[in-house]
Amino acid sequence: MTIKQKQCLLAYLGYYTGSVDGIWGNQSRTATKSFQRDYQLSVDGSFGEVTAQRIREVIASGEEPVKLSRQPQSGSGADWWKEIRYFTREEFRCPCSRCGGFPVEPEESIVRLADRVRGHFGAPVTVSSGVRCVEHNREVGGVAASRHLRGKAMDFTVSGVAGSTVLAYVQSMGGVRYAYAIDSSFVHMDVE
Ligand SMILES: [Zn+2]
Ligand SMILES: [Zn+2]
Repeated sequence: MTIKQKQCLLAYLGYYTGSVDGIWGNQSRTATKSFQRDYQLSVDGSFGEVTAQRIREVIASGEEPVKLSRQPQSGSGADWWKEIRYFTREEFRCPCSRCGGFPVEPEESIVRLADRVRGHFGAPVTVSSGVRCVEHNREVGGVAASRHLRGKAMDFTVSGVAGSTVLAYVQSMGGVRYAYAIDSSFVHMDVE
């Protein structure tokens, strides 16, 4: 089986969201691991004969793949989103057109912090960057270890409030790992 074929099968079952480029990189390995985990194979991220055979069986069975059956129906998924007053999951979506928007889920703690910021200032908050896939992160010049890649960071602005004021409040909240002003109105904050 060629790498492209492997990527196609993983994509068909919802595990691989990258481009079918024939390059066996991190995304391919991660997708393979998550397939192996769901179907009780040994999780090594290498797509060998056992994995190949299992994936053919799963596709031939016509059953809904574990990965897709786990996808939230209404787009919001986890229960804690119901407790979030001011944000929807969509606002944290990776804006590129390739990754499907959520290569990872936004971390609960960062969304809860965002809710607190919004409540504190009582003014609209615009999220300019939440979750990022590797490609989009590269495009916007994000560092390789950016917490945006793990759903643990957000960049935002509070309408009518100076970035320095927002930053001071963010830094006063517990639970923020790191925050800085991107410019005079946008602030980055992230969590552990
Ligand atoms: Zn993306
Ligand atoms: Zn950021």
